[in-house]
Amino acid sequence: MATPMDYRNDIRPNWCPGCGHYGVQAAIADAVAAQDISPENLAVISGIGCSSRIGGYFYTYGAHTTHGRALPYAQGVKLANEDLNVVVCGGDGDAFAIGMGHTIHAFKRNVNITYIVMDNHVYGLTKGQTSPRSDIGFVTKTSPHGSFESPLPICETAIAAGATFVAQGYMTNRAELVELIKQGMKHDGFSFINVFSPCVTYNKRNGYDYFKDNLTSLSTIEGYDIHDRAAALKALVEHDGLVTGLIYQNTERPSFEKAMAAANGGPHERALIHDVVKPSEDLFKQLYEEFK
Ligand code: SF4
Repeated sequence: MATPMDYRNDIRPNWCPGCGHYGVQAAIADAVAAQDISPENLAVISGIGCSSRIGGYFYTYGAHTTHGRALPYAQGVKLANEDLNVVVCGGDGDAFAIGMGHTIHAFKRNVNITYIVMDNHVYGLTKGQTSPRSDIGFVTKTSPHGSFESPLPICETAIAAGATFVAQGYMTNRAELVELIKQGMKHDGFSFINVFSPCVTYNKRNGYDYFKDNLTSLSTIEGYDIHDRAAALKALVEHDGLVTGLIYQNTERPSFEKAMAAANGGPHERALIHDVVKPSEDLFKQLYEEFK
């Protein structure tokens, strides 16, 4: 049985002391260990930002890609090798600004990967500018009079765009977050988990106390039905998006891979990895000489 330590390498995270991302890293390790996924069967793909450093701190396959481009890369990895468990990580700037074109299409495409966004409502790596999730009135170096833009309601956007698994967690609530990640990874399709992960250095407005005082667990809403799309949107609007738990799941729609395989009349497992043609020794040497 795997343990969370199996996914640790020797690299010490250089996040600020108190950064929420430490808790997200621990929750992902707990979730994959609980499912007994061996490191060679896991790929952690990330974009750019403080949160996206996370891929380098896992002892697994992975790639630290370019800004906002983790999702197309990760979808390619999954489609080439469906046996791999693919977890994608990023921050709210990477996911909902630079990468939003990819994010919205990933919601509707439904490739079987898990996207964990560490949402701190600010750009941390570039030292504190407003992000698409910043509150109106948030004062930063780029918004000295306070932000005039409304924060992007990302979970509502995901549901409206056709996402089949939408959840939200808070990194201090580790047990719930681990459960959401496990459920997301087991979901047959694209699972989106937005995680509140405070930036203690550049966002004093949305810190630990703010989330503690304002979040509502969906488990407290009597009769809440995760399969009811309208109810999910209603709960989000009523709580200004500040809910935690599994918000919406559609188990009827097949993943992109399964839908495509069915259309082609072939088995679901027919991924690119099964068609890899290994080069001959001579060709390998020739390529090596050419590119060394
Ligand atoms: Fe975390 Fe913010 Fe520090 Fe980045 S700047 S490591 S997000 S606390």
